[in-house]
Amino acid sequence: MKEEAWDKIHIRNLEVFGKHGVYPEENRLGQKFEVDADLYISIREAGLKDDLTKSIHYGEVSHFMASFMTEHTFRLIEAAAEQMAEAVLLRFPAMERIRLEIRKPWAPIGLPLESVSVEIERGWHQAFVAIGSNLGERENYIQMGIEALKARKDCKVEQVSEIIATSPYGMTEQPDFLNGMIKLRTLLGPWELLKALQEIEQKAGRERLVHWGPRTLDLDIIFYDDRVIDAMELQIPHPDMQNREFVLKPLAELAPYLRHPLFHKTAGQMLKEIEKT
Ligand code: ADP
Ligand code: MG
Repeated sequence: MKEEAWDKIHIRNLEVFGKHGVYPEENRLGQKFEVDADLYISIREAGLKDDLTKSIHYGEVSHFMASFMTEHTFRLIEAAAEQMAEAVLLRFPAMERIRLEIRKPWAPIGLPLESVSVEIERGWHQAFVAIGSNLGERENYIQMGIEALKARKDCKVEQVSEIIATSPYGMTEQPDFLNGMIKLRTLLGPWELLKALQEIEQKAGRERLVHWGPRTLDLDIIFYDDRVIDAMELQIPHPDMQNREFVLKPLAELAPYLRHPLFHKTAGQMLKEIEKT
């Protein structure tokens, strides 16, 4: 986290001519769109040093968005907003978050209206993902998992812990595990991340035969920002992390002072507690 994380740069009423719309006339003739954007970036350093390289050039962002709006044709302004937000975040990595509003002042609805618009807020999130394997070419499966995450443009693997060998947990009649932790910066929401991880597990040939049984690749979300999720299919923070040395050890290596949002204990403290027992 940077200082003054809630600084913003505002772009207001950027006018672009685009051909987005559900009706064929809209795609043929085009119409005016207006874009508002709030760019979340710490501008403290740029402000103190009067140095543009420490900020984001709003001119570049404006031109990028204007080109994006004219070079693509979407049926929905929802799609234009969603895809433009992602493109901007990928093009300007210093931007933590963007709020984007796209207005359509000439929306052809047969009624006088000032404008119709969609507004979204999208940004980078921090997740910790535990990776494990105890079947077959374990090192290869772990490497495969990491590479598969690196290959996604909406995921940046920031750090990988040391991969440690541990005896199995729960069901003990099975080969040793290799375990590690991945620090991830991602544009995916928690459910989308779960789906992405399950797809990677599938590709690694994982068969879900026995719960806690041997597996080629296991990818679990340990933390996702400070989020707490209690659904049947997804629990965050991972509900058993505080009891698993093979989770806490690599986590404490990467982020010893990271605090559990419910237990209010750091990774280092939780590790110490189970090492005592
Ligand atoms: P485990 O990881 O507990 O050994 P599995 O990998 O077979 O077991 O996962 C079983 C189910 O756990 C998945 O289908 C998934 O829906 C659910 N699940 C719940 N919370 C999480 C989480 N934080 N990360 C990954 N999977 C989760
Ligand atoms: Mg799992």
